[in-house]
Amino acid sequence: MESGKGQVILRCAVPVPLRRLFDYLPPTGTSPTDLCPGQRFWVPFGGRKLVAVLVNIVAKSPLAQLKSAFQQIDIEPLLPTSSQTFLHWAADYYQAPIGELYTAALPVALRQGKPQSHWAQQWLELTVEGKGLPFNALARAPKQQKLLQHLFQHGRQNRKQLSAQGLGSAVSRALCARGLAQWQGGATAPPDMSATQEQAPPKTLNTEQQQALTAIKLNGFSAILLEGTTGSGKTEVFLQLIAGVLENGKQALLLVPEIGLTPQTLRRIKARFPSRYIAALHSGLATNERARAWLSAAKGVADIIVGTRSAILTPLPRLGLIVVDEEHDASFKQQDGVRYSARDLALVLGRNSAVPVLLGSATPSLESLHNALSGRYQHLRLRKRAGNARPPQISLIGTMGQQLIEGFSPQVLDQIGLSLRRSEQVLVFINRRGFAPALACDDCGWLANCPHCSSKLTLHRRQHQLRCHHCDYRRAHIDRCPQCHSRAISALGAGTERSEELLSRRFGAFPILRVDRDTTSSKRALDQLLQRARSGEPCLLLGTQMLAKGHHLPQITLVVIQDADSGLFSPDFRAPERTGQLLEQVAGRAGRGELPGRVLVQSRYPQHPLLQLLLNKGYSAFARQLLRERELTQLPPLWAMALVRAECEQPQRAEGFLAAARQYLQTLAPSSPKLQYLGPVPALLERKSGRFRFYVQITAERRPLLQQLLMHFCQWAETKKTRQLRWAVDMDAQDLS
Ligand code: ADP
Ligand code: ZN
Ligand code: ZN
Repeated sequence: MESGKGQVILRCAVPVPLRRLFDYLPPTGTSPTDLCPGQRFWVPFGGRKLVAVLVNIVAKSPLAQLKSAFQQIDIEPLLPTSSQTFLHWAADYYQAPIGELYTAALPVALRQGKPQSHWAQQWLELTVEGKGLPFNALARAPKQQKLLQHLFQHGRQNRKQLSAQGLGSAVSRALCARGLAQWQGGATAPPDMSATQEQAPPKTLNTEQQQALTAIKLNGFSAILLEGTTGSGKTEVFLQLIAGVLENGKQALLLVPEIGLTPQTLRRIKARFPSRYIAALHSGLATNERARAWLSAAKGVADIIVGTRSAILTPLPRLGLIVVDEEHDASFKQQDGVRYSARDLALVLGRNSAVPVLLGSATPSLESLHNALSGRYQHLRLRKRAGNARPPQISLIGTMGQQLIEGFSPQVLDQIGLSLRRSEQVLVFINRRGFAPALACDDCGWLANCPHCSSKLTLHRRQHQLRCHHCDYRRAHIDRCPQCHSRAISALGAGTERSEELLSRRFGAFPILRVDRDTTSSKRALDQLLQRARSGEPCLLLGTQMLAKGHHLPQITLVVIQDADSGLFSPDFRAPERTGQLLEQVAGRAGRGELPGRVLVQSRYPQHPLLQLLLNKGYSAFARQLLRERELTQLPPLWAMALVRAECEQPQRAEGFLAAARQYLQTLAPSSPKLQYLGPVPALLERKSGRFRFYVQITAERRPLLQQLLMHFCQWAETKKTRQLRWAVDMDAQDLS
C-alpha cells in the first residue's frame, strides 16, 4: 500500500553507501511553505541520526510507513538546484551512491549538521558617499570621525573589531543614519581587507600569450587546452583571464592539484587581486575555516576560489570561468569513495553553467590531448618561455656499468659542486622517500616485507624505523636477520634521506633542503622550505615529486634526475605517460630565470626509445607517439575503460566474486570487437592492509555501454551477501595499483 494522497514527503539524499534516495515525513509542525530542496534535515536512519539533504518534495511514496524527519536545519537552502542536478549527474556517471556525492560536496562541519548561522557575520563598511569624504571630515563629531577614519584605514569591520576600538553601536548607528556607512553581511563575511595593499601589476603579454588570451571567449561554454611549456607564462594568462571574469561580476574557480601548490599560487593571486575576496578550499584547512571558505564560495561572496579536487563540487552561483591548472595531475582523480575526476567534472559543470573551461599543462594528459587533437577542445599553445628564460639543455647520463656513489654518477656529483660554487641553486629529484626502499640479509637473502601488504618495508633511519608506504605499518629497525640471525643486514637502494646524507657530506657548506612527505608534514613546512629557496641563496633542493609541481624557483640552474627508469618497465599502461610528465615537469624547474638551465638525467637505458623521444623531441611528440600506441592497443583515451574492483582477506572470495560478476555481465553484453573483458586479475599491489585486491577491467569503444554495464553490476552486487568483501566501480580508472 502507498502512503495517502496529498501528503508532503521529503525525498532525501542520506550519507549511506546505497544507490537510492530515502523518503521521510516533514518534522511535525513544519509548514510546507518552509520546505525547499537543498535544505538539510536531521533524519532517523537504522537507529542512527543522520544529516540528509532534501532532493525533492513528492506527494507519494512507495513505502507504507514513513518515518518523520527529526528537525529541519536550514531555512535558506544550503545547495541550489543547479548543484544538486550536477551531483546527481555525477552519481549516475560514476555509478556512485548519491549520499556519498553529497558527502564529498559538503565540508565536514556542514555534513555534521552545524547551522549556517554559525558562520554568519556582519560587518560595517563605508557607503559610496562615506568613501567620498575627506579623511578629516566630521570634525564636529569626534567619535564619528574616529569611526570614519578607522574604516578608511582598515576597510570593513565587524562588531568585535569596532568595540575593541571603543566604537560602540551608538556611533555606528549615527554614521549609518547619515548614509555614510552600512551593515553588510550574511552567511559569511569576507575577511578584513584593508584598502591600502598594492597590486602586483599584470605583465605585458608576449605574442603567444596575447593570442591565447584573445582566443578565449568568456561568454558561453567552451573547452580549451592551453598546452604551454614549463615557464611559458600560463599562470599569467590565467590571471588576466580571471581579471576579465571579475570585471563582469562573476566568480572564477581555479583547481590546483595539491595543497603543496596552493600557498604559492594563492600568494600570486592575492598580490594580483588585493581587493578581492579569495577563498581557498583544500583539506589542509581547519574544519571551521573550511566551512567558512565553502560558504563564502557557495553564497557568491568569494570572487576567486582556489581549490583542490573537491572544490569542483562546491556551488558557485556567479560562476564565470573554470581553470584546471596542471590538468594532467593524477590527484584530480579521487582514488577511493566516489572515484570522480575533478577535471572531467569541470567540463560538465562548465557546460551546465555556460562558462569556459580552461585546462592548462606543460604535459597534457593523453585524454585532453586527444580531445584537443580531434577538435573537441580548442587547442592553444605557448611554445616559448616567458620573459628572458630559455628552455633548459638536457643530457642523458648512462649509468650501466658505472661505479655509482650512493646512486650518483661521479660526473653528476662534480656538476652539482660546480653549480653550487658558482652560487647557483641545484635541484636533485629522487622519487623515493626514506633512507632505503628495501632491507635484506646478505647471508640468507631474507627481505623485510610488510606483514599486511605485498610490498617491501622502507628504512627510515633517522627514526630508526621500518615503514610500509602503503598501509603505514611501522616497526623498529632491526640489526639482526630474523631468519638466520646474521648481522649482515644491508639497506638496498637510496631514498631522499640517504641521498641527503651523501650530499651533506659532499656539499656541507651549502644548505640542503629536503622536500618530501616526511619533511613537510606540518602545514607550513613546504612553504617555508620553498621560501628559503626563493630567497635565492645557493642551496641544494632535494626531494620527491612534490618538487616537480609547478614551483617557480628562478635561481635553479641545474636539475638532476637520479633515476629515469622506474616507470619504463611498469605493467601499468599509463606508466610511460606518467614518467614522461614527471621528467618534463622536473626538468622544467631548471633555468626559469635569467640564468640558463641544464638537466642531467641518469638512466641505465639511455638508448630506450621512449626516453630518446622525450628528451630529443619533447613531451608533445612523445605524447603523440603514446596516443598512437593506445589506439593500436584499444586503450584509453581512444577506448573507454572501467574497473570493477573487489578486495577481501580471503583472496579466493574476492576473485570468485569478480569471476561471477564477469560471467553475469557477459550474459548481458558478450565480449565483442567493441567490448572486452579482462580478469579478474590481481591489482598491481596485490595485497594491501591485509586484503587481497582484484579487478575486472572492461574496455569499450563507447562509454555509454560501459556505464550501463557498471549500473547492472552495482544492482547485481547490491543483492549479494558481501560481508567482509569490499567492492567498487571505477569509471575512467586512472590507477591499476
Ligand atoms: P607557467 O605557469 O607556464 O609555468 P608562469 O606564468 O609561472 O609560467 O611564468 C613563468 C615566469 O615568467 C613567472 O616569473 C612570470 O612572472 C614570468 N612571466 C610570465 N609572463 C610574462 C611576460 N609576458 N613577461 C615577462 N615575464 C613573464
Ligand atoms: Zn638472514
Ligand atoms: Zn603495508
